[in-house]
Amino acid sequence: MVEVICDNCGTIKKSNHEWILGNEQQKHSLRSGSVRKLIRFFDRWYSRQATELGAIHLCSVKCKEEFARTKGMRVIITQRDLSMHNY
Ligand SMILES: [Zn+2]
Repeated sequence: MVEVICDNCGTIKKSNHEWILGNEQQKHSLRSGSVRKLIRFFDRWYSRQATELGAIHLCSVKCKEEFARTKGMRVIITQRDLSMHNY
């Protein structure tokens, strides 16, 4: 069993909690040669994607915003934005 920890505050994920799952991506600009970091967020929690390289785990919307701000990353929401669900 893999332990999932919030990448912002270090909280350990409980299995009955739905967290926010993101994926870190890099975009290379051919024109300037610069690399931009982006976070793409999934529309829900996927256990398989959660263990992939570059996965970002965040326990709350607050942590999601703080994480993106401190990292200076652009946030891309591909599908509808997440709200927190407790099952
Ligand atoms: Zn957190």
